[in-house]
Amino acid sequence: MSGYKERARVKAIEARNELGIGQLDSINIFKLLKNRENISIITTPLKGDISGIFIRKGDTGLVIINSRRSLGHQYFTAAHEYYHLKYNHGMTGRLCAINKYDEDYEVELEANSFASYFLVPDDALRYYLNLRLQDSSRKLNMRDLIYLENYFAVSNALMLLRLKNMGVISEAEAEQMKAGVISAAIRLGYSPALYQDTADQGMVIYSNYAELAEEFLEAGKITYGKYEELMLEGGYGEILFGDGEENGNSDAGNL
Ligand SMILES: [Zn+2]
Repeated sequence: MSGYKERARVKAIEARNELGIGQLDSINIFKLLKNRENISIITTPLKGDISGIFIRKGDTGLVIINSRRSLGHQYFTAAHEYYHLKYNHGMTGRLCAINKYDEDYEVELEANSFASYFLVPDDALRYYLNLRLQDSSRKLNMRDLIYLENYFAVSNALMLLRLKNMGVISEAEAEQMKAGVISAAIRLGYSPALYQDTADQGMVIYSNYAELAEEFLEAGKITYGKYEELMLEGGYGEILFGDGEENGNSDAGNL
């Protein structure tokens, strides 16, 4: 195994341990970043081959994710940008694109490997594979594949790559299993969301920003004027000033 892969694998195991996440558990990466790491996430349609962007703000960060990619790919991007924020302390920000190999390409490869192992630890993949195949000699089928992708909440491309690297499927089988995954998922009773982009949702913000601003206001750390300013900067004008509807500003309206 090449150096960066091994480093990423060890870091991914350590990161799970630090966060108290079991090695067999699946991760809701958006929730984890927002609620445990205080990292804000914005998903929005971006042009070109950009997957994601991270911006460091003091000891926290902002991650912007291209919603033109499948939700599975977006989760991978979130884990990739998380790697930069957690380990590349010298970087204040970065634009990460698919197949972008510049002078820093090893950092990008390590971030990709980290994302892969953080979301899908080797041991967990082996465990759930054995659970499905039950020591039988049958080959992995489309149902197993979709089960694994949905358990770990990762893209079809990532799961096929991992299974190929593990020697479970051949290159030719991986190629075959790329086709018809959405219709198969629907047929088997899964939501197709993991395989689809979310560009039609426009901009979606996952952040504790509004909560923090209110906390600072209540603790007297900031004035109401500053609070208003922060909320407007964060694009929370509607929360402060209502949306023009009678009940737009009530608690019920925010549910
Ligand atoms: Zn990157």
